[in-house]
Amino acid sequence: MNTSKSSELFAEAQKHIPGGVNSPVRAFRSVGRDPLYIASAKGSKIYDVDGNEFIDYIGSWGPMIHGHANERIINAIKDAAENSTSFGASSEKEIVLAQLVKKFVPAIEMIRMVNSGTEATMSAMRLARGFTGREKIIKFEGCYHGHGDSFLSKAGSGVATLGLPDSPGVTRSTAADTLNAKFNDIASVEVLIEQHPGSIAAVFIEPVAGNMGCVMAGKAFLQKLRDLCTAEGIVLIFDEVMSGFRVARGGAQELYGINADLTTFGKIIGGGLPVGAYGGRRDIMQLIAPSGPVYQAGTLSGNPLAMTAGIETLLAIDEDPDFYRTLGDACEYLYDGFRSNLADLKLDYTLNTCGSMFTLFFSSEAVTDFDSAKTSNTAKFAAYFNHMLENGIYLPPSQFEACFVSTAHTREDVDETVVANRISLEFL
Ligand SMILES: *Cc1c(COP(=O)(O)O)cnc(C)c1O
Repeated sequence: MNTSKSSELFAEAQKHIPGGVNSPVRAFRSVGRDPLYIASAKGSKIYDVDGNEFIDYIGSWGPMIHGHANERIINAIKDAAENSTSFGASSEKEIVLAQLVKKFVPAIEMIRMVNSGTEATMSAMRLARGFTGREKIIKFEGCYHGHGDSFLSKAGSGVATLGLPDSPGVTRSTAADTLNAKFNDIASVEVLIEQHPGSIAAVFIEPVAGNMGCVMAGKAFLQKLRDLCTAEGIVLIFDEVMSGFRVARGGAQELYGINADLTTFGKIIGGGLPVGAYGGRRDIMQLIAPSGPVYQAGTLSGNPLAMTAGIETLLAIDEDPDFYRTLGDACEYLYDGFRSNLADLKLDYTLNTCGSMFTLFFSSEAVTDFDSAKTSNTAKFAAYFNHMLENGIYLPPSQFEACFVSTAHTREDVDETVVANRISLEFL
């Protein structure tokens, strides 16, 4: 496979952009090669500047649930652009998207639009602190909640890939207000609450984690976490930036039948444009300025193009009552293929799946938290990644990320992927 143009561009980029990339997860460092430069993408396929074609399982890290350059979404964005790319004033589409999210996720009584998942989680944290008058937060090892200072300890995603325990530049006092519990371990949460009585404002969790690879919270664990937060007056925040509109129409909350007090969104809600949002209980949300004293603002928040992409993305889901069943069936067919490859080759690696999210962990252990995710053989993953790429399959370049399937992935795509998976596993 010739990737010389990508490598030339990457060499040039490194002169101007730190590490050559505008987000660390895009670097292919942990898999030992230069990142590909993408020229275009359509449906399930992505094309690099050297003319190579791949079946894409990154999907822009989650948003592209309808595949790339979906006609309906693209046309609506074009139409909206004719009316200006930004007003910095209110427009009706903000209401339409808010109504759609409320229809999908009943726990959302009010919602505020922002521009990224990071902004959503940072704002939700401030709001929870304002609401409770408390300062500390609990998060879980291996979960990623964006790059806000408070969330960069034992975080997942690129932080885990690069093996950074925490980040320089975060003050000691900020770091001291973040407490880490173990995913799927309620006792670890109870201990922290006992150690810091009356001072926990919020618990943040990815109910279906995607940033240590795909790892589901157990239902009993999540229910106990809900009950504990209710009993202690702690704001339970589901970070559904990845799982929202992905694992079910109503996100993880629908899947588990457990509601959060606040929920953060991103990725799918913007249909590939920069959108984040946070929402939930009316009594909490009303504390946000200008209806309340907790300040949060944004020049481009509720941007008309971004709202358009989000609306069309959600409407396309809403109009198909079988959307998640059809997508889920395609995914099961893919997972069955992977599982039979593993069985044939007598490999006991762990395939974690949740709807259209999956991760093949190069570990024989059940992966239920960050520690078990880290038992994976990342060198084997890197070799596998490279073989898959050579065989036309574009995966996230890290063991600690989830793969995403879209409705644009065809049977043929899946068959091709299963064959590539077998060839790549045989090489290891
Ligand atoms: C991607 C992600 C974020 C951060 O969103 P950005 O838009 O990249 O800032 C936060 N939380 C979760 C669960 C994510 O997957």
